[in-house]
Amino acid sequence: MNSVKQVSQSTIREGAHLFQGEATSDGAGVKLTRMLDSRMARQADPFLMLDEFRSDTASDYIAGFPSHPHRGLETITLMFAGRMRHRDNQGNEGDLGPGSVQWMTAARGIVHEEMPQQEDGLMWGYQLWLNLPAAMKMSEPGYQDIDASAIPEVSDGNGVRVRVIAGNYNGTKGAVRPRPTEPILLDVQLPAGAVFDYVVPEKHTVMLHGVSGEMQVGTREQSLKQRQLLLLGPGAQVRVEARAGAVQFLLIAGRPLGEPIAHYGPFVMNTQEELRQAVTDFKNGTF
Ligand code: FE
Repeated sequence: MNSVKQVSQSTIREGAHLFQGEATSDGAGVKLTRMLDSRMARQADPFLMLDEFRSDTASDYIAGFPSHPHRGLETITLMFAGRMRHRDNQGNEGDLGPGSVQWMTAARGIVHEEMPQQEDGLMWGYQLWLNLPAAMKMSEPGYQDIDASAIPEVSDGNGVRVRVIAGNYNGTKGAVRPRPTEPILLDVQLPAGAVFDYVVPEKHTVMLHGVSGEMQVGTREQSLKQRQLLLLGPGAQVRVEARAGAVQFLLIAGRPLGEPIAHYGPFVMNTQEELRQAVTDFKNGTF
């Protein structure tokens, strides 16, 4: 058993709501497990959606995500296995390989496509949607294509491995430029018997997604597994234990915006009028 830092039990965040992933499809027919969607977005503020695509059957992914628009949010793609090519109308092009991350700030508008670059083998990754504050929804679009080698990885020598995609982990800064919602995105692996303790800002929304294995969360030892997303309650500290075997999970945290959400397909604004404007602008080709 790795050592457990001494903290007051009352500050540890407990599991508050467990979302079960649901099978669905999106794009041109890519099979997905959706763990978070806009119906639950108020609870998960500032996060709007979390999908996993994971299949070694080409027909589940080969159609990809052909040209489509976004406005008002950031979309984050984490690749675990396989290869996708991204192209957008701002001139950005990226080859997303295993371990890479694409952080796209759609803001006032991007039109892009994400297409598989393989005809067989495992395609595995995630897409997370992160809201933008009202004041930044119509700002300049941005794009960060982050190669696996550019993501800092922290190892404790006992088999704990943390990839710091966004935020800060024990003094190691994530690969992503500072964002308005101060997101933290960690890809964590724990060996059997290890305990993960991590202090998060008290106001942040914190969620955990089980990538593999079964882990125990908080002092009430809420179980978390694959295809599940656990929203944590208030507190200062996240605790995850790997009792029975090695585990992997994503820690996803951000500052809630507390603003109205108007959502229609790939557009996430604050009012219905802004949504209508988004549709009109896209139809007029002004993205
Ligand atoms: Fe997209």
